This record gives sequence, C-alpha cells and structure tokens, in this order.
Amino acid sequence: MIWKPSRDEGILISSALVCIWMLLIVFITQQQRYDYIIINFQQEEYRTDAAYIHISKQRAECAGYYCFTDNEFVELFDDLDENRAYQEYDYTLFDNPDVNEYVNAIGESRGYSRRSYANEDELIEYNDILTYPFVRDAYVALRNEMQQEQISLHFVSGYRDFEDQKRIFLQKLGSTIPERILTGEYDEELNSVLDKTAPPGYSKHHTGYAVDFGCGDNYLVFEFLETECYDWMSYENFSRVKKYGFIPSYPQGVEYQGPNPEPWEYVWVGTGVLQ
Ligand SMILES: [Zn+2]
Repeated sequence: MIWKPSRDEGILISSALVCIWMLLIVFITQQQRYDYIIINFQQEEYRTDAAYIHISKQRAECAGYYCFTDNEFVELFDDLDENRAYQEYDYTLFDNPDVNEYVNAIGESRGYSRRSYANEDELIEYNDILTYPFVRDAYVALRNEMQQEQISLHFVSGYRDFEDQKRIFLQKLGSTIPERILTGEYDEELNSVLDKTAPPGYSKHHTGYAVDFGCGDNYLVFEFLETECYDWMSYENFSRVKKYGFIPSYPQGVEYQGPNPEPWEYVWVGTGVLQ
C-alpha cells in the first residue's frame, strides 16, 4: 500500500523542507563570510577563522578599537597562533625524553602552550634583531609617535629560535642532574625559571610576532610597568598601540598564562582584528 500524506502531513513536510532549505542557505552564507575573513587575514599574514569567531562576539569600543579584557588579549593571540603551521623539530632540552616531557608538562600546567614557528625566509634584520618587516614598520611608526611626546621606546628583542630558547632556559636553570628532575627535586628551580622563561617550543618569540620593548635611556625591560612608555601605551585599553596592530602579550591580570605578567612584551596581530 502506498502512503499518501494527508493535507496536514503535507503542510508539515513542506514546512520541514522549507526549514532545511533556510538552514542550508544560512550555512552557505556563513561559509562565505569565513572565506572573506580568511582572505582579509591573509593580507594581514593570517589564515584563520578562529580569531573571527573570537572577535565576532558583541564588543564595546575603546577609543575607536575593540575593548578587550586581559584574558581576551591572550585568547586573541592564541586563536590566531593556533591556526598557523607548527614546525616539526627534534630539539632536546635534555637527552632523556622523559625529562623533556616532565618539564613541558610543568610548563603546560602553568598555561604555556606550543607556538608556531616563523617562516625564517621572510624575516629581516633590524638593529641586529630578526623580525617580520611589517612588525618593524609598525614599531617604527609607534616609536615615532611616542618620540613626539618625548618618550623613547626601544625594540629590544624579536624572533628567537628553539636553540636560542634552549640556551637561555638551561642557563637560567643552572646545573642539574637531569634524571633527578623526574623525582620532583628541582620543581622549585624549574618554576622559578618558568616564571620568566618559556621552555623551547613554547615561546611567543618563535612566532616572529612578539616584541620586547625597552623604555628611556637605560633600555629598561623588567621594570617596564613603571615607565612612562607603559603609562602612555596602556592608556584607554591600549588603544594607542592597537593603532599599530600591537596588543599586550602577557597582560597584568591573567593567571595561568605561562610566565608571570610581562608588561614589556607585545604581540603584533594587525589592525584588521582590532577594529
Ligand atoms: Zn619577550
């Protein structure tokens, strides 16, 4: 026997079909919106829609740019970085892979995450520091604006590779007996290094987008929070540095972001995601 829908069932089926059709249209339009955003990000050196999802939340404006909480600054860079290519590498912090894993696990429990690796062919040298040309240009423009206010900002550090990070990390840790690290004997020393220094593979400096700034005559870095540079830059939710595509990298109010807050470090995300 062939099923013939009644009039009511017919209406129900056609409404369902219309609904499915509408959902399909919404889905296709959304996809197209992402494509558009991805193209925009490509111009800003980004290939991601995760950041789009992040900023598409209703966002208030702070002096012409989106307002972010300290946590949201961190999330924005994480979203952008998650979508970049990770490079396979075979560095060893210690010869014993169990010890490496142990150190990385402590790092990750503090909020450190694996970072992408810059395309070294695209980096340029600026004052003996490797960085992307658009990061240098953004810094130069920011520095020039600050100079007009008699404030001097310095570009102290940019891209750093795994080997460099390993050297810094081991130097700060001092001598250890690697196998004893597994017993927890060096946890305190490890954590005090991790307060300021990422394990290799976990530094934002690997990405090529992170910059350490100094301020004034003596190139202060660690006291950056106390400088007139920081006062000027942090004004109105950092709108003056957002203008050049920078946001704070490890802001003051965030727990579990890896290191302790680093008021001297900024990451370049481009202006496209900030307004
Ligand atoms: Zn740094």
